[in-house]
Amino acid sequence: MKKALVCGAGGFIGGHMVKRLKEEGYWVRGVDIKEHEYTELTCDEFVLGDLRDPRLVADVVDDNMDEIYQFAADMGGAGYIFTGEHDANVMHNSAMCNLNVVDEAVRKSVGKIFYSSSACIYPESIQMDTDNEGLKEDMAYPAGPDSEYGWEKLFSERMYMAYQRNHGLEVHIARFHNIFGPCGTWCGGKEKAPAAMCRKVAEIEADGEIEMWGDGKQTRSFLFIDECIEAVRRLMNSDFSGPINIGSDEIISINDLALMSADIAGKKIHINHIPGPTGVRGRNSENTLIKEKLGWAPAQSLRMGMEKTYTWIEQQLATK
Ligand code: NAD
Repeated sequence: MKKALVCGAGGFIGGHMVKRLKEEGYWVRGVDIKEHEYTELTCDEFVLGDLRDPRLVADVVDDNMDEIYQFAADMGGAGYIFTGEHDANVMHNSAMCNLNVVDEAVRKSVGKIFYSSSACIYPESIQMDTDNEGLKEDMAYPAGPDSEYGWEKLFSERMYMAYQRNHGLEVHIARFHNIFGPCGTWCGGKEKAPAAMCRKVAEIEADGEIEMWGDGKQTRSFLFIDECIEAVRRLMNSDFSGPINIGSDEIISINDLALMSADIAGKKIHINHIPGPTGVRGRNSENTLIKEKLGWAPAQSLRMGMEKTYTWIEQQLATK
């Protein structure tokens, strides 16, 4: 039986990865600084602990473990990443987790490791237009991310690649582009646009008003969680190290995302644009490399994922 460690198992993507690995017959240990808020984890062992502590990391990484999935990071949506208030924590906490995990993986001769980087590593200067044709992997340099979160991700990408080069560790790196779906943060300040739009629409009466940061013309693409998990598993089973984009190329403005949520809810809404952090003007995933290397690209439409997410958030609100 293959043995895997999922770091950040108490979070959105980590929780879904635990479920998938169990379905595939793995023995799974999850580790997180907090319990999962929205689901009962099915892992064989769950360790509540801080990956910034190298002793904890030494305890959770076993000799010759087959696979590690490193999702743990201090992160959130625009309201967390772009205000500047959390910059030191974001850089320190996430870097500490990565420094400890990659080093222990080499010490314990782990078979392979997955690292979750982000579209936030791409330079701000090539995302100034709402009409973004897609960020190709080789556009990452010359570097210039728009947040300290992005700079830490870039540093850690390079560190994992250096460990592969110098210590022979098998590394696989993906740059996620806005992953969303059920069992993700949907309130409290760390939620991202799809969950925030669903929640705001679900909370109001038909013909009500929602608030939105900025003019709503900024564009993004969003990838449903099931697609993300499938792509990560394919990457881990391939001989390609990356970094590779895991994202959708279905671009949409935040205004239209809100209107899509309203349409799913069967409500008419009014959008009140207020000042707030918005990030870059336009961002989209470019998927040539993933098609070429993994013979795969996401198939589900944004609308399908938003319907599932809206239903889940409506249920959360009803039971709150
Ligand atoms: P999440 O916040 O739901 O999960 C991250 C988990 O890491 C949390 O449960 C958190 O408690 C845990 N964690 C943080 N610090 C820790 C520590 N010191 N010790 C142990 N656990 C710790 O986020 P997510 O959406 O599941 O993202 C997973 C990974 O994917 C992150 O690295 C994130 O940066 C990356 N990513 C996500 C997206 C996205 O759209 N969700 C986009 C790009 C990159």
